[in-house]
Amino acid sequence: MSNNMQTMAISNPRTGLVDFDLPLYTLQHVEDEAKCLKLHQSQWWNMGLGERIAVMQNLANSMAEYKAHLVAALINDTGRASESELEVDVTINAIHRWCKQAPALLAKGEPWSAEIPFIELQQDYLPYPLVGVISPWNFPLLLSLVDAIPALLAGSAVLIKPSEVTSRFVAPFNEVLKRIPMLNNVLTLVTGAGETGQAVINAVDSLCFTGSVATGRHVGQLCAQRFIPAFLELGGKDPAIVCKDADPELAAKALCWGSMVNAGQSCMSLERVYVHKDIAPIFLAKLVANVRALKHNYPDIQQGQIGPIISAKQVKIVEAQLQDAKDKGATILCGGEVLNLGGGRYCLPTVLTDVNPQMSVVSQETFAAVLPVTIIDSDEQGVVLANDSEFGLSAAVFSQNVDYAKQIARQLEAGAVSINDASLTALIHEAEKQSFKYSGLGGSRMGAESIRRFMRKKAYIRN
Ligand code: NAD
Repeated sequence: MSNNMQTMAISNPRTGLVDFDLPLYTLQHVEDEAKCLKLHQSQWWNMGLGERIAVMQNLANSMAEYKAHLVAALINDTGRASESELEVDVTINAIHRWCKQAPALLAKGEPWSAEIPFIELQQDYLPYPLVGVISPWNFPLLLSLVDAIPALLAGSAVLIKPSEVTSRFVAPFNEVLKRIPMLNNVLTLVTGAGETGQAVINAVDSLCFTGSVATGRHVGQLCAQRFIPAFLELGGKDPAIVCKDADPELAAKALCWGSMVNAGQSCMSLERVYVHKDIAPIFLAKLVANVRALKHNYPDIQQGQIGPIISAKQVKIVEAQLQDAKDKGATILCGGEVLNLGGGRYCLPTVLTDVNPQMSVVSQETFAAVLPVTIIDSDEQGVVLANDSEFGLSAAVFSQNVDYAKQIARQLEAGAVSINDASLTALIHEAEKQSFKYSGLGGSRMGAESIRRFMRKKAYIRN
């Protein structure tokens, strides 16, 4: 980073006060970084997979040693404590898991020869030289590395641009990188807002974007103009169907967690519930009791489950959706407002009913501790309403008959469906999945495709 870089003032989500000057990388800065990365990429690729795995394991171990610094920065980025600690652990585990899986994942497509008379054919896989990653604010470290790790193992160099709102973690992460010169040569983080993101798109050979549908559409168009692949992981409005024969206690507990964890600021948060009328009263009573028991992590950040809303922009969205629902006749069973606690803005954990698809809280992503519940006459009606959405990230089904639940799950237009559980588990585990509809485009982030999608096929033909 050069000394004369311009900066952007960023507020702390717990106090609302500016506490961070974000360096703004320009087009020229990004081009320079990209040039440097490309210079070192062939050496990284030529090292071979075994050596790259050793370097990545070194990264995981160094992050573990430096964990306290990473967690401290993430706490200032996001305003949450235990989740920040968990985020570092999950990221370290992901590096170890990919290192373990990489040889098998890559072996599946090892170079092969075909016997055609007089012709020898060999197939090879070469990494894209430079992969770009543009990430959102809700899990700043994890979502910056989740695509970078497999790309590095594939043999690419990687240029990451995290969200402008949550880039405090970059400084301690760079300290970790400095300890591993080989990796430092092929992995660089640049900071900035949309303009820096566009500069990244201009400089790379393949792009992984995680963020909103609106930005994703723009990013997809920019990538299309450059004919580079774009892997888009976008927003959701994930539905849950609580069938007539569901266990209401289990469903209420799982849905409280699945909708409120991380203060609802998870892409795979369950944001709509469709509950059968026969069990609606008991389910709603249990759900509201569970949700009412949640506390804010203010004034003690180590206590409570609900952290602050990340930014003023996000507060506006949540308040507008709650107001729209109230104006259109929704019933607030608990919560229903955004508090100001010490300058931070906290959503009171909210359950609404008497909602309909004309309300933005039902049709648009909320990204807060807000759960609208619709009472349905039949499970089939639940499927129709759940699919009546432009999103298709994940979903959940609750029924004591697992075969029946699977039948319902098959009909849902979503890339991952949990049965008698909340959907976030699919993110942490290794399930291969794709995002449906406007929730994304491209190959799977997990499993065999996770590494292969960073490689191009090449054929050698000899007469
Ligand atoms: P966002 O779209 O506002 O920003 C995402 C990133 O794009 C940021 O780094 C931002 O600086 C960058 N950006 C903005 N304009 C750009 C441009 N013109 N060109 C290039 N880059 C640009 O999203 P957000 O508010 O940071 O994150 C929340 C969204 O992310 C939610 O919609 C959520 O559902 C989604 N998300 C999806 C997943 C998933 O795996 N599907 C995971 C986490 C979050």
